[in-house]
Amino acid sequence: MFNAILLNKNEDGTTDARLTQLDDAQLPADGDVTVRIDYSTINYKDGLAITGKSPVVRKWPMVPGIDGAGEVITSTHPDWKAGDVFVLNGWGVGEVHMGCLAQRARLKGDWLIPRPQGMSAKTAMAIGTAGYTAMLCAMALQENGVTKDSGDILVTGASGGVGSVAVAILSGWGYRVVASTGKQTEADYLKSIGAVEIIDRAELSVPGKPLQKERWAGVVDAVGSHTLVNALAQTRYGGVVAACGLAQGMDLPGSVAPFILRGVRLIGIDSVMAPKARRIAAWQKLATDLDASKLAAITQEITLADALVKARDIIEGKVRGRLVVNVNA
Ligand code: NDP
Repeated sequence: MFNAILLNKNEDGTTDARLTQLDDAQLPADGDVTVRIDYSTINYKDGLAITGKSPVVRKWPMVPGIDGAGEVITSTHPDWKAGDVFVLNGWGVGEVHMGCLAQRARLKGDWLIPRPQGMSAKTAMAIGTAGYTAMLCAMALQENGVTKDSGDILVTGASGGVGSVAVAILSGWGYRVVASTGKQTEADYLKSIGAVEIIDRAELSVPGKPLQKERWAGVVDAVGSHTLVNALAQTRYGGVVAACGLAQGMDLPGSVAPFILRGVRLIGIDSVMAPKARRIAAWQKLATDLDASKLAAITQEITLADALVKARDIIEGKVRGRLVVNVNA
């Protein structure tokens, strides 16, 4: 038997989430690698799954947890053998395939990537999907020609998981990062991880003009809706906006003016189905480029039982940085 969070759907449509024990027979049959999970994490999407706030879970019962790091126990997949260490992000795990907020999981070998040399399971999950998505966003800016000399970079939702890691990565690369946050109490925290300036997210979250004063050479947006539209309207000629999130909303209530009058480029970032080569490239860069002391400042370690409470907190915007789950605590 092993410990796991299990989600069931109540008759009234709400989600029942509890810490329980499962055995291997309850793990999905459609997997070719059985693994020991050492650490998992709570991302925004895990919060949605556990609270039932949004229909993230599409198969019941479900073990949530879109991320996991641990060691292979048994495998029939040609690339994986007992003792190999891995990182898993996305692929519908924790949504349609039982996930990693548990001490064991059965996954598909095609989904796993080797954990970068020297990176612990805890570090990998302190980064998690949020941090790996932040790296995909940072890489998108870099690959589209935004350099540290191009000008200021805006990061929205800055005190959250994606935002915090984006601030740490981009400042580490020498960019001048401006952090947008709703929590002015987190200004010192954001400066400690590399932001040089803090703006109030209220400046961005209400409807604005289609074109505004040009401020940003690049943007990492975890928020969507009016915030993304205003960020686009403030992006300098030829600038690049990497959009990955919807913390304010999924809508995009704006105009094409920034695209057709300023040549602004909007790059969509998806982590869930990103090709394996792209994932490996992002994780390699995370292993070399993310400052360990900044990651430690961003991260809080919790237990599986805590995860049930923290899932609500992340949906209510009360979590700073990243939550790493020690599934054996
Ligand atoms: P967090 O909850 O940790 O961070 C989100 C942050 O957004 C909050 O901390 C808060 O930051 C800000 N925020 C929250 N509510 C609002 C609001 N109503 N209006 C404006 N800002 C708000 O989540 P994550 O960092 O894990 O994820 C961020 C977003 O990215 C989510 O929408 C998530 O679904 C998405 N995502 C997408 C991925 C992809 O593959 N495309 C992968 C991973 C995440 P502050 O208080 O500092 O303003």
